[in-house]
Amino acid sequence: MPVMAHARTPEGKEIILQLQFRKGLSMEGKVLPRAFLAKGADVNGWVPFGNLSPEGKRWALAALFPDDLWREEDVRHRVRHPEVESVWTMAALFTGHGQNYDRLMAENPDLPETLREGDVWRIPRRLLSLDLGGTGRAPDRTQPEDDLDDEARVAAYRGMLSFGEDDQGKYAAYRLRKGEALYSSVVIRYTDRVDPKGVSELAERVAGRSGIADVRSIPPGQVIKIPVAFLAGPFQPEGSAELAEEREVRAEVRRTVRIEAGPKLTGVRIILDAGHGGVDPGARASGIWESDFVYDITMRVRRFLEQETEAQVSSTIRYLGLGFRSREEILGPSRSAEILTTPPFAVAGEGPKAVSVHLRWVLANDLFATFRKAKGDPQKTLFLSFHADSLHPSARGSMVYVPSAALVPSSYALGGSRTAHVAEAKRSARVAFTGREKLQGEARSRQFSEALLKALHKDRIPVHSNRPIRNVIYRSGGKWVPAVIRYSTGATKVLIEVANLTNEDDAANLRDPDFRERYAAAVVNAIRAYYRK
Ligand SMILES: [Zn+2]
Repeated sequence: MPVMAHARTPEGKEIILQLQFRKGLSMEGKVLPRAFLAKGADVNGWVPFGNLSPEGKRWALAALFPDDLWREEDVRHRVRHPEVESVWTMAALFTGHGQNYDRLMAENPDLPETLREGDVWRIPRRLLSLDLGGTGRAPDRTQPEDDLDDEARVAAYRGMLSFGEDDQGKYAAYRLRKGEALYSSVVIRYTDRVDPKGVSELAERVAGRSGIADVRSIPPGQVIKIPVAFLAGPFQPEGSAELAEEREVRAEVRRTVRIEAGPKLTGVRIILDAGHGGVDPGARASGIWESDFVYDITMRVRRFLEQETEAQVSSTIRYLGLGFRSREEILGPSRSAEILTTPPFAVAGEGPKAVSVHLRWVLANDLFATFRKAKGDPQKTLFLSFHADSLHPSARGSMVYVPSAALVPSSYALGGSRTAHVAEAKRSARVAFTGREKLQGEARSRQFSEALLKALHKDRIPVHSNRPIRNVIYRSGGKWVPAVIRYSTGATKVLIEVANLTNEDDAANLRDPDFRERYAAAVVNAIRAYYRK
């Protein structure tokens, strides 16, 4: 439910304002004074905040938040409507960019992220948007390394570290650049942690190690000491096994010759997997959930591939009642879905004990085996799994997981009586990989990921800043490769996290059928680009 407020303009006209969760502030257009509107703004219906003039914006904020104090050095914003306000909304309204979320948190270290009525947030003038009399600094997301390919970008990040040792042990030192935050620019970039809890805990720990009393207000130039135990593989010190593995994989990527299939993807075997479904809606945040939204994107990819290419396409999962159709509107979580084995298997979730998550790779491997038996080119097998995650809200955009060669086992067999009646499990429940196959699997999957990120970027679809390609999931002290790609016999196999549900801009994108269509089109463009020498 939006919050509605009435206020009178300087000329005495009554105007209705509304504040909606995630959608922000808007005003009823019909009696708005011209002076309140940005040039060319449409006055029909509700005028969004972004279409107001500087005067209109200032007036609207004062009208909606009459208790706010506008001072020379800052604005003191008193939270009035915690049910629809969020740090993100506050950052969007006052600074002009929701992405300034991090900075607003840093300015208000004692306040919880979950807003409470009456909390007073300080927004310094320099963070205010230009329209509100501030400096209008855009979030510093763009750094020189953003345009590099993955290997060069990771090398650039590594180049910014220096290694040292003190009485608390070995560390890598990083000097914080202007506009960078400890969460996003240090923890998410240099360690394998991306989940909100893991990132926050490690940020506290790194801050303590670096002699920083206050995580949220760190001056640029501050030296951050990251204990080496927490560094991701590519940032481990010289001489470490992890760094050697990283270099071996990078060399393999450079050596690996691309496979040519032409724009029609002739002779390519593709298996599409939409994560979760059935009893398991997956991650939930910002009023949406993972399963139906990624299923919809997957179905759009499927449709494009079937209509525009000669690739042979299969799905691992089908929603009952919906089939392989895409939808314009997604109203609630679908309750039943089945893995398309023989016989079909009800989706039971993706927990470590869930059989259905394993049946996805068993089914895919079985289909790949059939393809190879029919003289299909084993190099032209592609497995794509679609997911969305709920990360720290400052992270946004797509991220891709590839199977780390070091973490793929040499052999594995799915056992258990629950799958004994499944035909595919009888044939394809065992996998074995040679060292060479593991390396090739990671290398080809990395090449595909690069093609995917390029295609997304070209279509202006947000991509995770820092390291959008990762080869390991780290959570609660453990690290692993998702099972669907860990055991996949596809030559190329990736798990795509299409968006971060916790980020309000990402969530709004996923809710938009046009975005899902653009996303699917970009995936298909990426597949075409990948199978081109
Ligand atoms: Zn998922």
